[in-house]
Amino acid sequence: MLNMLNQYDKENIFSKILQNKIPCNKIYEDDYVLAFHDIAPAAKIHVIIIPKAQYCSFHDFAQYESSQNVALFFKTIRSIAESLGVDEGGYRILFNHGKNANQTVPHFHVHLLAGEHLGSITHKK
Ligand code: AMP
Repeated sequence: MLNMLNQYDKENIFSKILQNKIPCNKIYEDDYVLAFHDIAPAAKIHVIIIPKAQYCSFHDFAQYESSQNVALFFKTIRSIAESLGVDEGGYRILFNHGKNANQTVPHFHVHLLAGEHLGSITHKK
């Protein structure tokens, strides 16, 4: 089976942000997680949340990261949503894996979208 950990590209844009080679509009950081505003927001609030560990996508993260850290990551997403004040109005979190989902940055990241009605991506009209 393909081990995507071997394919992690340290030159991807989020890796460069983590290495402080390029700036970001940071909203949260701890030892394990970094969150910043998306450079091309798809909603009024569009935040990118990444683990600092090197995983190409959700698919690797969920396989290779410890259960404890996976849980911690999701709890951190919740805290960030709360600090943004979007928990009451609602928000969407999503992650793209691979080409059919149009993943463009090969470092696992969560999109947090909020601040307006987001429509549906799971219900046909
Ligand atoms: P995806 O298509 O799921 O891989 O999402 C990648 C996201 O990263 C897109 O929403 C981009 O707008 C965003 N992005 C790309 N470069 C930067 C950057 N330098 N700072 C913040 N967000 C970025």
